[in-house]
Amino acid sequence: MAREKKVENYDVVIIGGGPAGLTAAIYAGRARLKTILIEKALIGGLATYTNEIANYPGFPEAPKGEAITNLMKDQAKKMGVDFKLTAVKSVELQGEEKVVETFRNKYLAKTVILATGGRNRVTGATNEEKYLFDKGISFCATCDAAANTDKHVVVIGSGDAAIEEGMFLTKFASKVTVSVMHDEGKMDCNEIAKEAAMANEKMEFVWNTVVDSFEGDEHLNQVVLKNVKTGELIPIDCDNCFEFIGYIPNTELFEGQIEMTGRKYILTDDKMATNLPGVFAVGDVREKWLKQIATAVGDGAIAGMAAEAYIAETETFEEHIMQDKKPGLIYVYNAIDADSRAFLQTIEKIEDDAAGSIAVNRIDVYKSTGLADRLGIKTFPAVVTTKDGKIDQTLLENLTEDSIKTALSL
Ligand code: FAD
Repeated sequence: MAREKKVENYDVVIIGGGPAGLTAAIYAGRARLKTILIEKALIGGLATYTNEIANYPGFPEAPKGEAITNLMKDQAKKMGVDFKLTAVKSVELQGEEKVVETFRNKYLAKTVILATGGRNRVTGATNEEKYLFDKGISFCATCDAAANTDKHVVVIGSGDAAIEEGMFLTKFASKVTVSVMHDEGKMDCNEIAKEAAMANEKMEFVWNTVVDSFEGDEHLNQVVLKNVKTGELIPIDCDNCFEFIGYIPNTELFEGQIEMTGRKYILTDDKMATNLPGVFAVGDVREKWLKQIATAVGDGAIAGMAAEAYIAETETFEEHIMQDKKPGLIYVYNAIDADSRAFLQTIEKIEDDAAGSIAVNRIDVYKSTGLADRLGIKTFPAVVTTKDGKIDQTLLENLTEDSIKTALSL
Protein backbone atom coordinates (compact mmCIF):
# COMPACT_ATOMS: atom_id res chain seq x y z
CA MET A 1 0.00 0.00 0.00
CA ALA A 2 1.31 3.47 -0.89
CA ARG A 3 2.71 5.35 2.07
CA GLU A 4 0.60 8.36 3.19
CA LYS A 5 2.34 11.61 2.43
CA LYS A 6 3.25 13.86 5.32
CA VAL A 7 1.22 17.09 5.08
CA GLU A 8 2.82 20.37 6.15
CA ASN A 9 1.54 23.95 6.01
CA TYR A 10 3.66 26.91 4.94
CA ASP A 11 3.12 30.56 4.14
CA VAL A 12 5.59 30.36 1.26
CA VAL A 13 6.89 27.37 -0.70
CA ILE A 14 9.82 28.19 -3.00
CA ILE A 15 10.58 25.69 -5.77
CA GLY A 16 14.24 25.91 -6.82
CA GLY A 17 17.34 26.87 -4.85
CA GLY A 18 19.31 29.02 -7.31
CA PRO A 19 20.12 32.68 -6.64
CA ALA A 20 16.50 33.72 -7.36
CA GLY A 21 14.91 31.18 -5.00
CA LEU A 22 17.52 31.80 -2.29
CA THR A 23 16.93 35.55 -2.35
CA ALA A 24 13.16 35.09 -2.23
CA ALA A 25 13.78 32.84 0.79
CA ILE A 26 15.88 35.52 2.54
CA TYR A 27 13.17 38.15 2.06
CA ALA A 28 10.25 35.87 2.97
CA GLY A 29 12.11 34.56 6.02
CA ARG A 30 12.97 38.08 7.14
CA ALA A 31 9.27 39.01 6.83
CA ARG A 32 8.65 36.23 9.38
CA LEU A 33 6.74 34.10 6.92
CA LYS A 34 6.93 30.34 7.45
CA THR A 35 9.00 29.47 4.40
CA ILE A 36 10.42 26.31 2.83
CA LEU A 37 12.77 26.09 -0.16
CA ILE A 38 12.75 22.83 -2.13
CA GLU A 39 15.76 22.02 -4.35
CA LYS A 40 16.21 18.84 -6.37
CA ALA A 41 19.96 19.08 -7.10
CA LEU A 42 22.49 21.63 -5.86
CA ILE A 43 21.61 24.58 -3.63
CA GLY A 44 22.98 27.51 -5.64
CA GLY A 45 21.56 26.36 -8.98
CA LEU A 46 23.30 27.17 -12.25
CA ALA A 47 25.58 29.65 -10.53
CA THR A 48 27.44 26.75 -8.93
CA TYR A 49 28.58 25.61 -12.39
CA THR A 50 30.57 28.79 -12.84
CA ASN A 51 34.21 29.03 -11.89
CA GLU A 52 34.39 32.77 -11.83
CA ILE A 53 31.66 35.35 -11.24
CA ALA A 54 33.20 38.65 -12.21
CA ASN A 55 30.08 40.77 -12.58
CA TYR A 56 28.13 40.24 -9.38
CA PRO A 57 28.26 43.50 -7.44
CA GLY A 58 30.25 43.50 -4.22
CA PHE A 59 32.63 40.68 -5.19
CA PRO A 60 35.59 42.28 -7.00
CA GLU A 61 37.77 39.18 -6.53
CA ALA A 62 35.52 37.20 -8.95
CA PRO A 63 34.84 34.19 -6.70
CA LYS A 64 33.37 30.85 -7.73
CA GLY A 65 29.58 30.93 -8.09
CA GLU A 66 29.08 28.59 -5.17
CA ALA A 67 31.06 30.92 -2.88
CA ILE A 68 28.35 33.52 -3.45
CA THR A 69 25.36 31.18 -3.29
CA ASN A 70 26.66 29.46 -0.12
CA LEU A 71 26.52 32.85 1.58
CA MET A 72 22.94 33.27 0.33
CA LYS A 73 22.05 29.85 1.74
CA ASP A 74 23.57 30.70 5.15
CA GLN A 75 21.66 33.97 5.17
CA ALA A 76 18.35 32.24 4.36
CA LYS A 77 18.96 29.66 7.10
CA LYS A 78 19.63 32.49 9.54
CA MET A 79 16.20 33.89 8.64
CA GLY A 80 14.62 30.60 9.71
CA VAL A 81 13.91 29.20 6.24
CA ASP A 82 13.53 25.39 6.01
CA PHE A 83 15.36 23.55 3.21
CA LYS A 84 14.37 20.28 1.59
CA LEU A 85 16.61 18.51 -0.91
CA THR A 86 14.23 16.67 -3.20
CA ALA A 87 12.40 17.19 -6.50
CA VAL A 88 8.95 18.72 -6.67
CA LYS A 89 6.81 16.20 -8.57
CA SER A 90 3.51 18.05 -8.97
CA VAL A 91 1.78 21.31 -8.17
CA GLU A 92 -1.80 22.57 -7.93
CA LEU A 93 -1.58 26.32 -8.14
CA GLN A 94 -5.11 27.45 -8.99
CA GLY A 95 -6.93 27.43 -5.66
CA GLU A 96 -6.48 29.72 -2.69
CA GLU A 97 -4.57 26.91 -0.98
CA LYS A 98 -1.69 25.81 -3.22
CA VAL A 99 -0.45 22.22 -3.17
CA VAL A 100 3.19 21.29 -3.84
CA GLU A 101 4.06 17.59 -3.76
CA THR A 102 7.37 15.77 -3.51
CA PHE A 103 7.82 12.00 -3.36
CA ARG A 104 7.18 11.87 0.39
CA ASN A 105 5.58 15.19 1.32
CA LYS A 106 2.59 17.32 0.52
CA TYR A 107 3.02 21.01 1.23
CA LEU A 108 -0.02 23.28 1.55
CA ALA A 109 0.91 26.88 0.92
CA LYS A 110 -0.63 30.34 0.90
CA THR A 111 1.85 31.40 -1.79
CA VAL A 112 4.27 29.63 -4.12
CA ILE A 113 7.38 31.12 -5.71
CA LEU A 114 8.52 29.33 -8.88
CA ALA A 115 12.33 29.57 -9.19
CA THR A 116 13.16 26.49 -11.23
CA GLY A 117 15.56 28.14 -13.70
CA GLY A 118 16.47 26.30 -16.89
CA ARG A 119 18.56 23.45 -18.27
CA ASN A 120 21.00 22.93 -21.09
CA ARG A 121 19.79 22.72 -24.64
CA VAL A 122 21.23 19.88 -26.72
CA THR A 123 22.04 19.85 -30.44
CA GLY A 124 19.84 16.90 -31.42
CA ALA A 125 22.66 15.58 -33.68
CA THR A 126 23.11 11.87 -34.47
CA ASN A 127 24.45 9.73 -31.57
CA GLU A 128 24.21 12.59 -29.07
CA GLU A 129 22.28 10.52 -26.52
CA LYS A 130 24.98 7.83 -26.62
CA TYR A 131 27.75 10.17 -25.46
CA LEU A 132 25.98 12.50 -23.02
CA PHE A 133 27.73 13.41 -19.74
CA ASP A 134 30.50 10.97 -18.73
CA LYS A 135 30.79 9.46 -22.23
CA GLY A 136 32.23 12.60 -23.79
CA ILE A 137 29.61 15.36 -24.01
CA SER A 138 29.68 17.78 -21.11
CA PHE A 139 27.83 20.97 -20.21
CA CYS A 140 30.05 22.12 -17.39
CA ALA A 141 33.62 23.27 -17.93
CA THR A 142 34.04 23.95 -14.22
CA CYS A 143 33.22 20.34 -13.43
CA ASP A 144 35.13 18.68 -16.27
CA ALA A 145 37.98 20.99 -17.33
CA ALA A 146 40.67 19.43 -15.13
CA ALA A 147 39.91 15.99 -16.57
CA ASN A 148 40.77 17.42 -20.00
CA THR A 149 44.30 18.52 -19.14
CA ASP A 150 46.47 18.38 -22.31
CA LYS A 151 43.53 17.11 -24.35
CA HIS A 152 41.73 18.42 -27.41
CA VAL A 153 38.16 19.52 -26.80
CA VAL A 154 35.42 20.84 -29.05
CA VAL A 155 33.09 23.60 -27.87
CA ILE A 156 29.70 24.06 -29.53
CA GLY A 157 28.25 27.58 -29.51
CA SER A 158 29.39 31.20 -29.45
CA GLY A 159 27.29 32.86 -26.72
CA ASP A 160 28.71 34.24 -23.47
CA ALA A 161 28.68 30.84 -21.75
CA ALA A 162 30.34 29.08 -24.72
CA ILE A 163 33.13 31.58 -25.11
CA GLU A 164 33.80 32.20 -21.41
CA GLU A 165 33.77 28.50 -20.63
CA GLY A 166 35.84 27.78 -23.75
CA MET A 167 38.47 30.25 -22.53
CA PHE A 168 38.44 28.60 -19.13
CA LEU A 169 39.03 25.25 -20.85
CA THR A 170 42.19 26.60 -22.52
CA LYS A 171 43.79 26.72 -19.06
CA PHE A 172 43.72 22.91 -19.09
CA ALA A 173 43.24 21.56 -22.63
CA SER A 174 45.96 21.66 -25.28
CA LYS A 175 43.50 22.87 -27.90
CA VAL A 176 39.90 24.14 -27.94
CA THR A 177 38.08 24.01 -31.28
CA VAL A 178 34.92 26.12 -31.32
CA SER A 179 32.06 25.41 -33.72
CA VAL A 180 30.33 28.72 -34.56
CA MET A 181 27.12 28.85 -36.61
CA HIS A 182 27.81 32.33 -37.98
CA ASP A 183 30.10 33.86 -40.60
CA GLU A 184 33.76 34.34 -39.75
CA GLY A 185 34.27 36.91 -36.95
CA LYS A 186 30.61 36.89 -35.87
CA MET A 187 29.66 35.48 -32.45
CA ASP A 188 26.73 35.73 -30.03
CA CYS A 189 28.88 36.68 -27.02
CA ASN A 190 29.83 40.16 -25.85
CA GLU A 191 32.60 42.00 -27.74
CA ILE A 192 35.17 41.80 -24.91
CA ALA A 193 34.83 38.02 -24.64
CA LYS A 194 35.02 37.72 -28.44
CA GLU A 195 38.24 39.73 -28.69
CA ALA A 196 39.86 37.80 -25.85
CA ALA A 197 38.86 34.45 -27.39
CA MET A 198 40.10 35.33 -30.87
CA ALA A 199 43.43 36.41 -29.39
CA ASN A 200 43.77 33.13 -27.47
CA GLU A 201 46.31 30.90 -29.23
CA LYS A 202 44.77 27.69 -27.96
CA MET A 203 41.40 28.51 -29.50
CA GLU A 204 40.48 27.66 -33.06
CA PHE A 205 37.19 28.53 -34.74
CA VAL A 206 35.27 26.59 -37.37
CA TRP A 207 32.82 29.09 -38.84
CA ASN A 208 29.37 28.43 -40.36
CA THR A 209 29.09 25.02 -38.73
CA VAL A 210 26.66 22.94 -36.68
CA VAL A 211 27.09 19.39 -35.35
CA ASP A 212 26.11 16.66 -37.77
CA SER A 213 27.02 13.66 -35.60
CA PHE A 214 29.01 12.42 -32.63
CA GLU A 215 31.28 9.42 -33.31
CA GLY A 216 33.41 7.06 -31.22
CA ASP A 217 33.39 3.70 -29.47
CA GLU A 218 32.42 3.54 -25.80
CA HIS A 219 33.61 7.13 -25.49
CA LEU A 220 33.31 10.00 -27.94
CA ASN A 221 36.41 10.54 -30.09
CA GLN A 222 35.13 12.61 -33.02
CA VAL A 223 32.64 15.42 -33.61
CA VAL A 224 31.51 15.71 -37.22
CA LEU A 225 30.64 19.31 -38.05
CA LYS A 226 28.64 20.37 -41.08
CA ASN A 227 29.15 23.62 -42.96
CA VAL A 228 25.66 25.14 -43.15
CA LYS A 229 26.48 26.96 -46.39
CA THR A 230 28.28 24.25 -48.40
CA GLY A 231 27.06 21.06 -46.70
CA GLU A 232 30.69 19.94 -46.30
CA LEU A 233 31.26 17.48 -43.43
CA ILE A 234 34.25 18.35 -41.24
CA PRO A 235 35.34 15.56 -38.83
CA ILE A 236 37.21 16.85 -35.78
CA ASP A 237 39.08 14.26 -33.71
CA CYS A 238 38.82 15.16 -30.04
CA ASP A 239 38.75 13.82 -26.51
CA ASN A 240 35.62 15.60 -25.29
CA CYS A 241 32.92 17.99 -26.43
CA PHE A 242 31.29 20.81 -24.46
CA GLU A 243 27.88 22.07 -25.54
CA PHE A 244 26.92 25.62 -24.63
CA ILE A 245 23.94 26.39 -26.85
CA GLY A 246 21.52 27.88 -24.39
CA TYR A 247 18.94 26.40 -22.11
CA ILE A 248 15.29 25.57 -21.79
CA PRO A 249 13.14 26.84 -18.91
CA ASN A 250 12.14 24.19 -16.36
CA THR A 251 8.41 24.82 -16.64
CA GLU A 252 6.94 21.42 -17.58
CA LEU A 253 5.47 21.04 -14.07
CA PHE A 254 3.47 24.25 -14.45
CA GLU A 255 2.16 23.79 -17.99
CA GLY A 256 -1.60 24.21 -18.31
CA GLN A 257 -1.75 26.15 -15.04
CA ILE A 258 0.45 29.21 -15.56
CA GLU A 259 0.56 31.64 -18.48
CA MET A 260 3.76 31.21 -20.52
CA THR A 261 5.38 32.50 -23.69
CA GLY A 262 5.70 30.34 -26.82
CA ARG A 263 9.18 29.34 -25.62
CA LYS A 264 7.67 28.27 -22.28
CA TYR A 265 9.02 31.05 -20.10
CA ILE A 266 6.61 32.20 -17.36
CA LEU A 267 4.99 35.61 -17.79
CA THR A 268 5.00 37.93 -14.77
CA ASP A 269 4.22 41.54 -13.95
CA ASP A 270 6.70 43.87 -12.24
CA LYS A 271 5.82 42.35 -8.86
CA MET A 272 6.81 38.90 -10.22
CA ALA A 273 3.13 37.91 -10.01
CA THR A 274 1.93 35.31 -12.52
CA ASN A 275 -1.63 35.10 -13.86
CA LEU A 276 -2.58 33.10 -10.73
CA PRO A 277 -3.13 34.98 -7.44
CA GLY A 278 -0.47 34.05 -4.86
CA VAL A 279 1.88 32.47 -7.41
CA PHE A 280 5.10 34.29 -8.31
CA ALA A 281 7.95 33.43 -10.71
CA VAL A 282 11.55 34.61 -10.43
CA GLY A 283 14.92 34.30 -12.16
CA ASP A 284 15.74 32.48 -15.39
CA VAL A 285 12.39 30.68 -15.49
CA ARG A 286 10.48 33.87 -16.26
CA GLU A 287 10.41 35.84 -19.48
CA LYS A 288 12.93 38.66 -19.17
CA TRP A 289 15.70 40.37 -21.05
CA LEU A 290 18.80 39.66 -18.92
CA LYS A 291 19.30 36.30 -17.24
CA GLN A 292 22.03 36.82 -14.67
CA ILE A 293 22.61 36.39 -10.95
CA ALA A 294 22.15 40.11 -10.32
CA THR A 295 18.73 40.11 -11.98
CA ALA A 296 17.75 36.78 -10.38
CA VAL A 297 18.35 38.16 -6.90
CA GLY A 298 16.38 41.33 -7.78
CA ASP A 299 13.44 39.16 -8.84
CA GLY A 300 13.74 37.11 -5.64
CA ALA A 301 13.68 40.19 -3.42
CA ILE A 302 10.54 41.50 -5.13
CA ALA A 303 8.73 38.16 -4.95
CA GLY A 304 9.59 37.67 -1.26
CA MET A 305 8.05 41.05 -0.44
CA ALA A 306 5.14 40.57 -2.84
CA ALA A 307 4.31 37.23 -1.18
CA GLU A 308 4.24 38.97 2.20
CA ALA A 309 1.93 41.71 0.85
CA TYR A 310 -0.34 39.10 -0.77
CA ILE A 311 -0.72 37.14 2.48
CA ALA A 312 -1.41 40.31 4.52
CA GLU A 313 -3.96 41.43 1.92
CA THR A 314 -5.68 38.03 1.96
CA GLU A 315 -6.05 38.22 5.74
CA THR A 316 -7.50 41.74 5.55
CA PHE A 317 -9.88 40.66 2.80
CA GLU A 318 -11.18 37.59 4.59
CA GLU A 319 -11.29 38.92 8.15
CA HIS A 320 -12.37 42.54 7.61
CA ILE A 321 -13.61 43.28 4.09
CA MET A 322 -15.76 40.15 3.71
CA GLN A 323 -16.70 39.83 7.40
CA ASP A 324 -20.11 38.21 7.94
CA LYS A 325 -21.17 39.67 11.29
CA LYS A 326 -22.89 42.81 9.95
CA PRO A 327 -24.00 44.24 6.62
CA GLY A 328 -20.87 45.78 5.09
CA LEU A 329 -20.13 49.04 3.31
CA ILE A 330 -16.83 49.09 1.38
CA TYR A 331 -15.75 52.42 -0.09
CA VAL A 332 -13.11 51.99 -2.83
CA TYR A 333 -11.41 55.32 -3.60
CA ASN A 334 -8.22 56.91 -4.81
CA ALA A 335 -6.59 59.14 -2.19
CA ILE A 336 -5.00 61.38 -4.82
CA ASP A 337 -8.37 62.11 -6.47
CA ALA A 338 -9.90 65.16 -4.74
CA ASP A 339 -13.55 64.18 -5.41
CA SER A 340 -13.24 60.64 -4.16
CA ARG A 341 -11.32 61.93 -1.12
CA ALA A 342 -14.05 64.50 -0.40
CA PHE A 343 -16.72 61.76 -0.54
CA LEU A 344 -15.07 60.16 2.51
CA GLN A 345 -17.07 62.64 4.60
CA THR A 346 -20.34 61.25 3.24
CA ILE A 347 -19.15 57.71 4.06
CA GLU A 348 -18.32 58.87 7.59
CA LYS A 349 -21.81 60.37 7.98
CA ILE A 350 -23.45 57.12 6.82
CA GLU A 351 -21.31 55.24 9.34
CA ASP A 352 -22.29 57.61 12.16
CA ASP A 353 -25.99 57.46 11.24
CA ALA A 354 -25.89 53.66 11.18
CA ALA A 355 -24.69 53.75 14.81
CA GLY A 356 -22.70 50.51 14.68
CA SER A 357 -25.25 48.49 12.70
CA ILE A 358 -22.94 48.20 9.65
CA ALA A 359 -19.21 47.45 9.18
CA VAL A 360 -17.45 50.13 7.13
CA ASN A 361 -14.13 49.58 5.31
CA ARG A 362 -12.20 52.06 3.19
CA ILE A 363 -9.86 50.80 0.44
CA ASP A 364 -7.35 53.28 -0.97
CA VAL A 365 -6.32 52.05 -4.43
CA TYR A 366 -3.46 54.55 -4.53
CA LYS A 367 -1.60 52.28 -2.07
CA SER A 368 -2.48 49.02 -3.83
CA THR A 369 -5.17 47.79 -6.21
CA GLY A 370 -5.02 44.25 -4.76
CA LEU A 371 -8.16 44.47 -2.61
CA ALA A 372 -10.11 46.33 -5.31
CA ASP A 373 -9.11 43.61 -7.80
CA ARG A 374 -10.48 40.96 -5.45
CA LEU A 375 -13.81 42.84 -5.39
CA GLY A 376 -13.74 43.12 -9.19
CA ILE A 377 -13.65 46.94 -8.99
CA LYS A 378 -11.79 48.64 -11.82
CA THR A 379 -13.22 52.21 -11.67
CA PHE A 380 -13.08 54.53 -8.67
CA PRO A 381 -14.75 55.72 -6.53
CA ALA A 382 -17.08 52.78 -6.00
CA VAL A 383 -19.16 51.34 -3.20
CA VAL A 384 -19.66 47.64 -2.55
CA THR A 385 -22.18 46.42 -0.02
CA THR A 386 -22.01 42.96 1.57
CA LYS A 387 -24.52 40.69 3.30
CA ASP A 388 -23.59 37.52 5.19
CA GLY A 389 -19.96 37.82 4.04
CA LYS A 390 -20.93 37.98 0.35
CA ILE A 391 -21.07 40.86 -2.14
CA ASP A 392 -24.64 42.20 -2.30
CA GLN A 393 -24.49 45.29 -4.53
CA THR A 394 -21.83 47.21 -6.46
CA LEU A 395 -22.48 50.94 -6.98
CA LEU A 396 -20.23 52.50 -9.61
CA GLU A 397 -22.16 55.63 -10.63
CA ASN A 398 -24.18 58.44 -9.02
CA LEU A 399 -22.86 57.76 -5.54
CA THR A 400 -24.96 59.68 -3.03
CA GLU A 401 -25.77 59.30 0.66
CA ASP A 402 -29.30 58.21 -0.33
CA SER A 403 -28.29 55.62 -2.95
CA ILE A 404 -25.85 54.01 -0.51
CA LYS A 405 -28.31 54.05 2.39
CA THR A 406 -30.96 52.50 0.13
CA ALA A 407 -28.53 49.74 -0.90
CA LEU A 408 -27.93 49.05 2.78
CA SER A 409 -31.65 49.27 3.69
CA LEU A 410 -30.82 51.99 6.24
P1 FAD B 1 19.00 28.43 -11.45
O1 FAD B 1 20.32 28.92 -10.97
O2 FAD B 1 18.95 27.67 -12.72
O3 FAD B 1 18.35 27.56 -10.28
C1 FAD B 1 17.16 26.85 -10.47
C2 FAD B 1 17.14 25.69 -9.51
O4 FAD B 1 15.86 25.07 -9.52
C3 FAD B 1 18.15 24.59 -9.85
O5 FAD B 1 19.04 24.39 -8.78
C4 FAD B 1 17.28 23.36 -10.12
O6 FAD B 1 17.88 22.15 -9.70
C5 FAD B 1 16.03 23.68 -9.31
N1 FAD B 1 14.85 22.95 -9.79
C6 FAD B 1 14.36 22.86 -11.06
N2 FAD B 1 13.26 22.07 -11.09
C7 FAD B 1 13.03 21.67 -9.83
C8 FAD B 1 12.04 20.82 -9.22
N3 FAD B 1 11.06 20.23 -9.94
N4 FAD B 1 12.11 20.59 -7.89
C9 FAD B 1 13.08 21.18 -7.13
N5 FAD B 1 14.05 21.98 -7.65
C10 FAD B 1 14.02 22.22 -8.98
N6 FAD B 1 25.41 34.89 -14.25
C11 FAD B 1 26.11 35.98 -13.80
O7 FAD B 1 25.52 36.89 -13.22
N7 FAD B 1 27.46 36.04 -13.96
C12 FAD B 1 28.18 35.07 -14.56
O8 FAD B 1 29.41 35.16 -14.69
C13 FAD B 1 27.47 33.93 -15.03
N8 FAD B 1 28.13 32.91 -15.65
C14 FAD B 1 27.45 31.79 -16.04
C15 FAD B 1 28.15 30.72 -16.59
C16 FAD B 1 27.49 29.54 -16.95
C17 FAD B 1 28.24 28.39 -17.51
C18 FAD B 1 26.09 29.45 -16.78
C19 FAD B 1 25.36 28.20 -17.16
C20 FAD B 1 25.36 30.53 -16.25
C21 FAD B 1 26.04 31.71 -15.87
N9 FAD B 1 25.35 32.80 -15.33
C22 FAD B 1 26.06 33.89 -14.86
C23 FAD B 1 23.89 32.81 -15.24
C24 FAD B 1 23.38 32.51 -13.81
O9 FAD B 1 24.01 31.36 -13.31
C25 FAD B 1 21.87 32.34 -13.87
O10 FAD B 1 21.29 33.48 -14.45
C26 FAD B 1 21.30 32.17 -12.45
O11 FAD B 1 21.85 31.04 -11.83
C27 FAD B 1 19.79 32.01 -12.52
O12 FAD B 1 19.29 31.78 -11.25
P2 FAD B 1 17.89 31.07 -10.97
O13 FAD B 1 17.77 30.97 -9.50
O14 FAD B 1 16.84 31.74 -11.72
O15 FAD B 1 17.99 29.63 -11.64
